[in-house]
Amino acid sequence: MKGRTALVTGASSGIGRATALLLAREGAAVALVALPGAELDRAAEECRAAGARVLPLPADVADSAAVADAFSRAEALGPVDAVFNNAGISMVVPVTETTDEQWHRQLQVNLTGSFFVARQAARVMAPRRRGAIVSTASELALTGQAGYVAYTATKGGILAMTRALAAELAASGVRVNAVCPGAIDTPLLRAEFDTADDPAAERAENERSIVLGRLGRPEEIAQTVLFLLSDDAAYVTGAHYVVDGGRTGCFPVGSLARPQEDGGEQA
Ligand code: NAD
Repeated sequence: MKGRTALVTGASSGIGRATALLLAREGAAVALVALPGAELDRAAEECRAAGARVLPLPADVADSAAVADAFSRAEALGPVDAVFNNAGISMVVPVTETTDEQWHRQLQVNLTGSFFVARQAARVMAPRRRGAIVSTASELALTGQAGYVAYTATKGGILAMTRALAAELAASGVRVNAVCPGAIDTPLLRAEFDTADDPAAERAENERSIVLGRLGRPEEIAQTVLFLLSDDAAYVTGAHYVVDGGRTGCFPVGSLARPQEDGGEQA
């Protein structure tokens, strides 16, 4: 990523923070966009310590003027040619109890915010005929889960938007892809577990539902995003990469799925 300038949204925590740090380590200059706060400054400091040129840019992605402003300030680092469109929120609530406000806020941040960021990315990248965008969808763009009706709608929208954007920007040399994380151990997921009566049991049940038997780490999503933003993915566009420990692809059931006492060796 040497010589590249990346803009990462949701960069102060979890998946965005891990990705900003990986991009910094790989030589990119990095603009970190997130809600204002000490966490954003700490994330910027971490990237700086990795030797990168860094700009923390507090902004709400649901505000189109703030998004446009963040992009123009990021250009002080160089022409932005890699965008990780990742900021998001989740609210776990039964559909019958979902308020208008909860529906609208998730739509505004996750889907409208992703659109504002992708549109601004397209505006700066397409005329230069170079760049890559990766948006964070979710395994919940592919499968349903109780309590996530509004959230799931936003993530399905991101996948659909990714494909249309890829088609529209291909002729401009800009690639557009999505990543679909499974259950990744971040403050967002921990807050979801905390809405359950027994958060530890909720976490254990999640772990059991994943064939790899554990939650993912933010760094494991970052590696896929790095690939998709890099020229190594030159022939990849309009795609989504599922990074979920096998949860949407495999049933974690049957005696052969259980860890073997001898370390997994079968006779
Ligand atoms: P997190 O809560 O750890 O981090 C969220 C980041 O988004 C923070 O930097 C926060 O400041 C930023 N953010 C939130 N609202 C914003 C706004 N309005 N404007 C700008 N920035 C805003 O969450 P995470 O788990 O790292 O999630 C990152 C993305 O991954 C989200 O889109 C989330 O939906 C998605 N995702 C997470 C999981 C998971 O299990 N953690 C699974 C699938 C998808």
